[in-house]
Amino acid sequence: MLIKDAEFGEVLVRKNAWSTGVKFSVSTSGRLAMSVPKHTPDFLLKRYLNSNRERIREKLPLKDPAEQRTRDYQKKVLMKKAKDYLPYRLEYFAKLYGYSYDKCRLTHANTRWGSCSSKRTISLNIGLMKLPEPLRDYVILHELAHLNHMDHSKAFWAEVETHDKNYKAHDKKLKLFSPGV
Ligand SMILES: [Zn+2]
Repeated sequence: MLIKDAEFGEVLVRKNAWSTGVKFSVSTSGRLAMSVPKHTPDFLLKRYLNSNRERIREKLPLKDPAEQRTRDYQKKVLMKKAKDYLPYRLEYFAKLYGYSYDKCRLTHANTRWGSCSSKRTISLNIGLMKLPEPLRDYVILHELAHLNHMDHSKAFWAEVETHDKNYKAHDKKLKLFSPGV
């Protein structure tokens, strides 16, 4: 749930069965996140917030509320673009090179461009939409090759190379970008 705070903007509250106390952190969107034990009554949330205000201000790299909103908006735009493009691009390459996967999932984690699970689900980061096309295609081809090799063995890279001759340069260039929105 989200609660509104005049200073910190929207605060993400997570009620967890395993929490033993109040813990503050920063969510991926730059919001303040607060985790509390499962049965904490709502009126206590504000109280916890108020008594920790000083500490939060000093310790946590929060984005200001206006910046949070801009980010939320950018994420939405990117998600829309990604939905209209990535599943089709994946399907295109899969058909072209004879791969079969189970599902395509769109993610927005901050750390990974893509992944391929043993259940043959391919996850693609919506941040791919910010990349130049050759790099975006490289990530898709990389994940497709994982359908045949669930590792980064020689055989894996050989397979990537058959679909992308410049895969080494692309892999290197990719490190200059970050998937986070
Ligand atoms: Zn990989």
